[in-house]
Amino acid sequence: MIVIMAKDSTPQDLAEVQRRIENHGLAVDISQGVERTVVGVLGSIPPDLKDEMEVLLGVAEVIRVTKPYKLASREFHPDSSVVMVGDVAIGGSEPVVMAGPCSVEDEEQMVTTARAVKAAGARILRGGAFKPRTSPYSFRGMGIEGLKLLHLAKQETGLPIITEVMAPGDVDTVAQYADILQIGTRNMQNYMLLDEVGRIDKPVMVKRGFAAPYEEWLLAAEYVMSWGNRQVMLCERGIRAFEHYTRFTLDVAAIPVVKRLSHLPILADPSHSTGKWHLVTPVALAAIAAGAHGLLVEVHPNPDLAKCDGPQSLTFQNFSSLMDQVRAVVAALHQEPVGVPSPAHRRGP
Ligand code: PEP
Ligand code: MN
Repeated sequence: MIVIMAKDSTPQDLAEVQRRIENHGLAVDISQGVERTVVGVLGSIPPDLKDEMEVLLGVAEVIRVTKPYKLASREFHPDSSVVMVGDVAIGGSEPVVMAGPCSVEDEEQMVTTARAVKAAGARILRGGAFKPRTSPYSFRGMGIEGLKLLHLAKQETGLPIITEVMAPGDVDTVAQYADILQIGTRNMQNYMLLDEVGRIDKPVMVKRGFAAPYEEWLLAAEYVMSWGNRQVMLCERGIRAFEHYTRFTLDVAAIPVVKRLSHLPILADPSHSTGKWHLVTPVALAAIAAGAHGLLVEVHPNPDLAKCDGPQSLTFQNFSSLMDQVRAVVAALHQEPVGVPSPAHRRGP
């Protein structure tokens, strides 16, 4: 349930609302927006609480949140959230591109890639140190040594780092090096891992499970948020369909759907969703045109020699061209923001 305070309500009105809610043993989540203050009520809500709230001074409206995910829902938090990573704002009007190799391989690969993606306009550097591989015989990443190389590339370029964490026991170590912790598609429903990243004070990107409906994905974000970590973003990375030409299928509708259901930033991964380098740019442009707040793109100095995901990796030149085209789409979009439900167009589900 949310309690929307009237524009002319006083701090005393807000304190009384909070006191009454807490009297029922419920938790309160206050979001002070530019336009209005919204009080979220968390817990098992007694049937008559709505009536009790509606008559309090300074209360404009009381709305029941119908979704099973609360903190992640737009009903609960009507204003879009922006996650700050240093001075990079994710979820605002400028899409943020995160780029780098699938996996960290050596110092030269990391540092040259970091410099190249930065020069082309990427704001965040990606690279996997702990790799979830389908086959146990594939390269599974450099582990902590890989984290150290990511840190080195960050020192060289100033680019913040996003990297995957796979095990609950690794969360603290990965958080020492990473600026954003990535939950991979295969771990979207690893609840112990979600609990653990919920306890830290670092941004988290929850990739969509490749067979997960929107609700399960948003509930995964809810797990993280329920522990107090509200710095959560989502990434559509393709779902499993019957087509095998592409590795997965990017669900482009996921972008406006998530923007409608949730206030969290939503990014897209055109690399893992397509599996083919020549499809990465067109699919990236589609995601940006659909309103994505950013992209996660694999780039390698020599894709033919990549230890992981070479066929979907862009060369530096491919990436620079992708960025030029992304800028052109963004410039066109700036005339009209895409996918944010405006009150004038709201027509129910
Ligand atoms: C990745 O981004 O490195 C990755 C493994 O992606 P996903 O979990 O979406 O397959
Ligand atoms: Mn990869």
